[in-house]
Formats: sequence, C-alpha cells, structure tokens
Amino acid sequence: MVNRPVWEELTKEMTAAGATLVAVSKTKPSSDIQELYDLGQRHFGENYVQELVAKHEELPKDIIWHYIGHLQSNKVKYLTPFVHMIHAVDSFKLLEEINKQAAKHNRTIDVLLQMYLAEEETKFGMDEKEILSLLDYYTAQRSQLQNVRICGLMGMASNTDNEQQISDEFHRLCNFFTHLTDTTFFNQPHFAVKSIGMSSDYKLALARGGNMVRIGSMLFGSRN
Ligand SMILES: *Cc1c(COP(=O)(O)O)cnc(C)c1O
Repeated sequence: MVNRPVWEELTKEMTAAGATLVAVSKTKPSSDIQELYDLGQRHFGENYVQELVAKHEELPKDIIWHYIGHLQSNKVKYLTPFVHMIHAVDSFKLLEEINKQAAKHNRTIDVLLQMYLAEEETKFGMDEKEILSLLDYYTAQRSQLQNVRICGLMGMASNTDNEQQISDEFHRLCNFFTHLTDTTFFNQPHFAVKSIGMSSDYKLALARGGNMVRIGSMLFGSRN
C-alpha cells in the first residue's frame, strides 16, 4: 500500500526545492511500485541486486532505477544493462568494474561517490581523503573510463535524534561537494547531485542543499 497524500506532498516539496525524489521500494512488492508509477513517480531506488533485476523485468521499462545499496564488484554485471544511477561507489575498483561492464552494453552509467558521514562504524563509504585519492586515479585514467560518469556525492547521516548533528553531517558533505565543483569537476555541470536525506531527515537535507532524497518508509510504510 502506498501513501498517496504523502507522495503528493513530497512531490510538491521536491519541485519547490528543485530536488529529485527517489522512492525507495526495497522489500516492497512490485504492485506498490506500479501504484506510484501510475501517479507519475519515475525514480525508484533498490538495495538488493536480485530484487532489483526481478522488478526491472516485470515493471514498465521507463522506470529510472537507482541502485542505492552497497554493491559488490561481482554483481555489477547484473545491473549494467539497465540501471540509471549507482549511488554508493566506495572504491576505484568498483568504479572500474562499472565502467567495464557498462562498455559491454555501450552505455554510460551515472554514479555517486559515497561519503562517510556517520559516527557508526558499520556504514560504508569514504572520507574526504579517500575520495580525493580515488579522484586522482580517476583523473589520471579518465580517457579509459568513458562508460562511467561521476555525478556527485551520496551520504547517510548518523542514526540519531540529534538534529544538529545530522545537519552538521549533511553540511560537511555539501561543503566538500562545493570544493569538488571548484577543483576536480570545475566547469563540469554533470557533477551536480547531492544525494542525502531519507524519511527521517530529508527536511534537514533539503535545508542544507541536498537535491536528491531517498525516501522509503514514509511512502510505502515501515519494512519488516
Ligand atoms: C532504505 C534506505 C533508504 C530509505 O530509508 P527510509 O528511512 O525508509 O526512508 C535510503 N537510503 C538508503 C541507502 C537506504 O538503504
């Protein structure tokens, strides 16, 4: 079951903020996705490779799929035929693999670099230094990486009720994003995405300058 009034309200908020709503449909049935699709939603996000592949096969082909979970290199090949954006790139090896697999389909796949924001040790991602070092490799080998396009940063804030802390973590990502637009990605308008904010903290993300939010439970109800 989809919460239609919430979707309508969110869609208005995103339009006002110039942000993209990615509806996170992991663990939810395809019928829920179809319901939102029929209302006009096109961007959907999933976390599990097999689940995404199965849903892609049965749902309308103009859905814009985002893979937002942690991705293992050996699974990239299942996504490259159709995925639009991969949010959580956290190593140069993964970037190379996406490029290699995308080339087989003559596609260019948009990716985001996952920046580590939270204090919890369990979350994946890279800190500023690691991102800069990945970008050094990227810049040096760019001519061989034509099938992948780095479009911005993705991050997850700490799982806390402390709004100041969450806001500070988003701020850190947005500051670093600005630094990259002034340096590595100077004059490269495709580097434009700040994917931050989920059901619990998307308002803080928009206030900090996020322009892509990934929202699941608010739209589809809580997951088991
Ligand atoms: C599940 C998930 C979301 C959505 O979380 P909700 O709290 O249900 O909105 C967003 N981003 C990532 C990376 C996720 O895994």
